[in-house]
Amino acid sequence: MEQKVRVLMQRYELGRLLGQGTFAKVYHARNLLTGMNVAIKVVDKEKILKVGMIDQIKREISVMRLVKHPNVVELFEVMASKTKIYIVMEYAKGGELFNKVVKGKLKEDAARKYFQQLISAVDYCHSRGAYHRDLKPENLLLDENDNLKVSDFGFSVLAESKCEDGLLYTTCGTPSYVAPEVIKRRGYDGTKADIWSCGVILYVLLAGYLPFRDANLMQMYKKIGKGEFKFPRWFAPDVRRLLSKILDPNPKTRISMVKVMENSWFKRGLVKEKPVITNMETKQISPLDAADGVFEVCENGDPIADSKQEQTKPCKLNAFDIISFSTGFDLSGLFDDDVHKKEVRFTSNKPASIIISKLEEMCNQLRLKIKKKEGGLFKLEGSNEGRKGALGIDAEIFEITPQFHLVEFKKCHGDTMEYQKLLKEDIRPALNDIVWTWQREQQQPQQLQHEGEVQEEQIEAISSQQIS
Ligand code: ATP
Ligand code: MG
Repeated sequence: MEQKVRVLMQRYELGRLLGQGTFAKVYHARNLLTGMNVAIKVVDKEKILKVGMIDQIKREISVMRLVKHPNVVELFEVMASKTKIYIVMEYAKGGELFNKVVKGKLKEDAARKYFQQLISAVDYCHSRGAYHRDLKPENLLLDENDNLKVSDFGFSVLAESKCEDGLLYTTCGTPSYVAPEVIKRRGYDGTKADIWSCGVILYVLLAGYLPFRDANLMQMYKKIGKGEFKFPRWFAPDVRRLLSKILDPNPKTRISMVKVMENSWFKRGLVKEKPVITNMETKQISPLDAADGVFEVCENGDPIADSKQEQTKPCKLNAFDIISFSTGFDLSGLFDDDVHKKEVRFTSNKPASIIISKLEEMCNQLRLKIKKKEGGLFKLEGSNEGRKGALGIDAEIFEITPQFHLVEFKKCHGDTMEYQKLLKEDIRPALNDIVWTWQREQQQPQQLQHEGEVQEEQIEAISSQQIS
């Protein structure tokens, strides 16, 4: 029987599934022209759109394209279809580093080698303005020569959307590797947060188990928050000293990257990497120039925002986003007026706490009952019996960055006309001072036309250029 071979872009023959994460499946593939083995990460657009993060993805992909380091999984190209984003990257043949740890703790020299390579990769990426924020075993891979390859650098957006406080509804994995300030959602420094995770990883390599363990998630959070852990008896004094400085719950006093690299335990047997010349150094192109043509360029410039810098105006949603929000690329929805739509969205450049108090104030004024449900969901209930019973509206807040949110109103019961009237005459005006823009007020016709050309299931090479 003939076997069905999936070929992407007439260039990549898709092979077996290598693994699966929250947002994506990763397949082995072969470049039909060069025979090179690659890994292709297939990201479900729908899942990303639900968390409203297209702009960051675009920015982060553009940063990734400029990052080249022997210990970072290289990004070759990005393609997209109507429903999927395909990220073609270097294939790490040796699989996950932690498959080794599962078999038992590593010898000190072996652990140190991986730790040195990890720090080298992380420090390099920090110098390029990229923070990982999701350093964990699944993202530490090995090549055929047993060298460490960090994957998912630059995709911190995906990491962020998973582990936040519930404004986003995607599930959060165990926080074992996440720095306390990230858990507490204080504005944090990406550098210091990554150093913490590197410390947890070093501990695990040497111990064979996690430093912060508890069957109860809350207890585990508490231990992380206090930096409460014990060293196994076989940890040497010098590595204990280093780990104590890394696993300091206060990011301000936590050791810096420079100091880690100066540490005597760290430096033992260190092989200096040859300097790598990157696109950034040779061509002096800004990450956003590089993203040009990959997706549309954001309007405000910055390549990748650390949450500390996110006070600045976030990117406005562009045509790509609006289309993406409209179901199934049905462009007609964009030109309808709001009247027949059940869902109405706006973006706000205010923190969630302000949006919530504004919603409460509005409900008070309009005599609507408001009840908080799980995550960022609020149930609004009309007090009057309408034509089809009392009006019920879901208001849901999605975080895009800590300072930028998307709020969606959706009628769940009651009369549509009454709902539309309430929205138009009462809700919209009441929210004026927190609204950045209502979703349908930002169409850019030329971009719409361009985006609309994407055919169903046709895989477009958004960036067909190989990055050398
Ligand atoms: P998440 O991204 O949801 O936090 P994750 O990192 O496990 O979790 P993916 O990045 O989607 O999810 O990767 C899934 C799995 O695929 C990884 O755990 C890894 O085993 C494998 N994998 C990812 N990238 C590569 C690669 N470049 N080469 C080989 N295997 C890979
Ligand atoms: Mg990963």
